[in-house]
Amino acid sequence: MKKKTVRDIDVTGKRVLVRVDFNVPLKDGRVVDDTRIRAAIPTIRYLRERDCRVILMSHLGRPKDAPDPSLTLDPVAMRLGQLLGIPVRKVGEISGPAVEAAVAAMGPGDVLLLENTRFDPREKNNDPTLAEELARLGDVYVNDAFSAAHRAHVTTAGLAAFLPAVAGLQMEKEIQALESVVSNPKRPFVVVLGGAKVSEKIKVIDRFLDLADALLIGGAMSFAFGKARGAAIGASKVEEEDVPVAAQALLKSERVSCRLVLPDDVVAADSFGAEAATQVVPANAIPEGWMGLDIGPQTVASFTSLIAQAGEVFWNGPLGVFELEPFAEGTRAVAEAVAACPGLTVVGGGDTVAAVNKFGVADKIDHVSLGGGAALEFIEGLDLPGISVLLDKEQVL
Ligand code: ADP
Ligand code: MG
Repeated sequence: MKKKTVRDIDVTGKRVLVRVDFNVPLKDGRVVDDTRIRAAIPTIRYLRERDCRVILMSHLGRPKDAPDPSLTLDPVAMRLGQLLGIPVRKVGEISGPAVEAAVAAMGPGDVLLLENTRFDPREKNNDPTLAEELARLGDVYVNDAFSAAHRAHVTTAGLAAFLPAVAGLQMEKEIQALESVVSNPKRPFVVVLGGAKVSEKIKVIDRFLDLADALLIGGAMSFAFGKARGAAIGASKVEEEDVPVAAQALLKSERVSCRLVLPDDVVAADSFGAEAATQVVPANAIPEGWMGLDIGPQTVASFTSLIAQAGEVFWNGPLGVFELEPFAEGTRAVAEAVAACPGLTVVGGGDTVAAVNKFGVADKIDHVSLGGGAALEFIEGLDLPGISVLLDKEQVL
């Protein structure tokens, strides 16, 4: 990795401002899934062991540029305290005299959580006045929020103009896993893409046609390809604008060495729901009025055998409507095949991560990326502001 991390600078005894991703699901004032909070623990521990004063910043949800009591980080502070086994102090503001006083009162190893950064409209505007106010609180800025690194906000990027900026340990893990995917994958490199919208993922498809040995496409996305090839796709979900995009990818696949593999068969349903009548049909002959909601058994067999032989696998996007049991089999089988694959395995995407958790295989996957949109932008080869602002390894302080 080209960027400095907390390990590359002397943090001992310093006041460290850490951008974490505590954008977690809440219900009735409690954290329902603490995966993202757990992901921040290694960096917080590392800093506490070096007597730092750890000041944490995060956004939560989408407040309308003003404080919204339902999106306070109070429940997060509570959960974080339980995980760390120490009290975590939480302040009601992001910057200003009260926050400055709270920081001044911190001792070595103390952890303080600021309020939801998006309560201040200056956060999303990357307003340097907020960056300056925050920079006053610390000596070093650590970005550990990979999933927000594609945004140029104050706490995800702007702060680097005022403080020495380095990556946290979770950020480092994410970058290393995705770098391996885009720059030096082990062969054969098998990519599985599914989920809903082709146009959102087309640049990723394009990149993988150059990088991968096999690109397996399932989920709703596959119907844009089916339609582009003139297949009968019945009432399957397809975005019209995606069809020409898929046609382009099909054309490109003839020029590259990557094998583009589309479903042979699908599980079709006569309506969208768990109670629907179903039948397995060829993917290019879905009866009128029926919709493909999962990949079929032949496709499962061919996808899983390619995955089993892979040196490296990247998977983004469910292969079917896995939220409904009758259409979960394709995604479950792929999740299990990825988990069993002896090669390096990387999985990303909000719903895909939910699927590997649901099927209980998350801990058998080498890297589960928590950065949905950020991971796809990284793979596209885009510059992520939250990464590019960090100090380069060779940079002398
Ligand atoms: P991720 O969040 O992992 O990037 P997406 O958001 O692109 O994934 O897509 C996930 C959604 O796609 C899931 O809610 C799933 O139900 C839906 N989906 C997958 N296959 C189909 C299909 N054949 N028809 C309709 N929806 C589908
Ligand atoms: Mg999604």
